[in-house]
Amino acid sequence: MKVNNSILHAWVDSVTEVQFFERLIFTLTRAFQKSRFVLHSIGKSRRLWQVHFRKEYVRTQLAGRQGNCAQCGTCCNLLFTCPMLTKQGRCFAYGTCRPQACKVFPINQRDIDEIKLCGGQCGYYFNKEDSSIA
Ligand code: SF4
Ligand code: SF4
Repeated sequence: MKVNNSILHAWVDSVTEVQFFERLIFTLTRAFQKSRFVLHSIGKSRRLWQVHFRKEYVRTQLAGRQGNCAQCGTCCNLLFTCPMLTKQGRCFAYGTCRPQACKVFPINQRDIDEIKLCGGQCGYYFNKEDSSIA
């Protein structure tokens, strides 16, 4: 598509450096907030933190968790497809070296919301907590 040069020059002249950086920061902030990469990175870091440093919280959460694993495999595909996931959809590390964060997934409603955002439906649910992502 051919851009009219005079219109482009007029627009460039009208945007100050401050406005340019304001718009840049605004755009980056929005991209950051909506990024699935960021969301899943935070989710993985949060679970890693919880299973190692908030064990009591995890125990309490699991005690109140309801439902069962539907073995949909969505939690094995957050951020990236886990290399331990076989083509048949089975966990190669099951029963041997499966990470603690996998064993206790989902820990809270945020984890379930993360599955929902990927189009999945986790078989577990929590009664009391509200969604904190959506
Ligand atoms: S280690 Fe197993 S349970 Fe954990 S994400 Fe990988 S395939 Fe899934
Ligand atoms: S998303 Fe939920 S139901 Fe699906 S495999 Fe993971 S824990 Fe099981």
